[in-house]
Amino acid sequence: MKRRSSLKHRSKRNIRTRSKRGGNKVRCCMCERRVSERNSLKPSACLMKHGSRAHRICKDCWWDSENGFAREGVNHECPGCKKGMPLLKPKPASKVSEVVDLTLDS
Ligand SMILES: [Zn+2]
Ligand SMILES: [Zn+2]
Repeated sequence: MKRRSSLKHRSKRNIRTRSKRGGNKVRCCMCERRVSERNSLKPSACLMKHGSRAHRICKDCWWDSENGFAREGVNHECPGCKKGMPLLKPKPASKVSEVVDLTLDS
């Protein structure tokens, strides 16, 4: 006997929607872990040199009581620059799809 299955065929797709808020991961230049951008700080020396592409240091390394970056007497040169780590890439989020030509030729 054929029974009609009344199972609703709902395709369950587990597409993981990437959370856009604060989901940007950056690499801490001290411990080299990937941390979210919001949990990281930029060494000011690096920030002045490289702006938004500056290296990041996670809060753990920054505030660490033994070898933290923010400790007094610590060399505040950016450890990422010293190690020659690659700078952050410019955010792809701000990619402009259309190039607006602003050459005003009046
Ligand atoms: Zn770290
Ligand atoms: Zn740096």
